[in-house]
Amino acid sequence: MAVGTGNGTRALIRGLRGLPGELYPGLPLARLTTFRIGGPAWAVFAPATPEALVEAVTLARTLGVPWKLLGRGSNVLFPDAGFPGLVLSTTRLNRLRRQGGLLVAEAGVPLSKLAPRWFSALAGIPGTLGGGLAMNAGTRAGELGAQVAWVEVLLPDGEVARLSRSECGFAYRDSRLRRLGLPVLRAGLVPRAGPPLEEVLVRRAGQPSLPSAGCVFRNPREAPAGWLIERAGLKGAREGGAMVSHRHANFIVNLGRATARDVLSLVDRIRARVACIFDVWLELELEIVSP
Ligand SMILES: Cc1cc2nc3c(=O)[nH]c(=O)nc-3n(C[C@H](O)[C@H](O)[C@H](O)COP(=O)(O)OP(=O)(O)OC[C@H]3O[C@@H](n4cnc5c(N)ncnc54)[C@H](O)[C@@H]3O)c2cc1C
Repeated sequence: MAVGTGNGTRALIRGLRGLPGELYPGLPLARLTTFRIGGPAWAVFAPATPEALVEAVTLARTLGVPWKLLGRGSNVLFPDAGFPGLVLSTTRLNRLRRQGGLLVAEAGVPLSKLAPRWFSALAGIPGTLGGGLAMNAGTRAGELGAQVAWVEVLLPDGEVARLSRSECGFAYRDSRLRRLGLPVLRAGLVPRAGPPLEEVLVRRAGQPSLPSAGCVFRNPREAPAGWLIERAGLKGAREGGAMVSHRHANFIVNLGRATARDVLSLVDRIRARVACIFDVWLELELEIVSP
């Protein structure tokens, strides 16, 4: 997909140049995702402050340019053709401070910075706070949403509001933040010791080391998705450069040159086989971003 050249895109680029942050027109999204897949965005902007993020979203909304927030890109699959709009990377929003009994963290703070001391259940999850809140990231040992006091978000009317934990609607790998597409600016978190870190890290060692986006499917009521996929004989199944991991069957790994199309073909094949054998339809945990 060619980088946008219309009036809207030119006005967007001009507006973004006036904001504190880094601007990368036409950056391939494969560089910003753990899957290493995805064509170029018209522009990627990494705001230096939460206020600049608000201004960038407001600008895109005013100009009618599609926009998408991105943390570490560890739960998303972008199309091979790229994203025809603005991708807002939160990686520069990484300030963290103590306030009273809370940790106040900006949206781009890596979970790896929070996990070791205060959120051990999240150890090894390669995302950011904002993506983690949107997805209510977690493991069997605990979920991020459980340790939230408040979340500051940008509402669709342009107002910045502080939502309580219950207003965030956290559920299994889901939240109202994600469903409504509310940009998270920062959050107040309750630090709490979880399970011993070593225990969690041993579990992590069972995960593939090749590029991936974590678990592809949600665990259905019947059985863990990985167990169903393995029992369906799909470990090692390939489509182009995408393969069902030998280590963990709910992971699709990029063998080096996988395309989004390869991953989607493999997803279809897995779903069809599991549905045929177990009569279970697997729902995606991985987010497929539409062009
Ligand atoms: C090896 C590996 C292991 C993993 N293990 C786990 C695991 O054990 N448990 C688990 O839950 N997940 C796991 N994941 C998936 C992933 O790391 C989590 O879902 C993580 O929380 C995503 O964070 P992110 O910053 O990468 O979000 P992204 O992938 O960048 O984005 C995910 C979603 O959040 C939105 N988003 C991003 N930032 C913001 C923001 N500031 N405000 C609002 N919305 C935002 C995006 O638009 C997108 O819709 C794993 C992934 C990998 C690659």
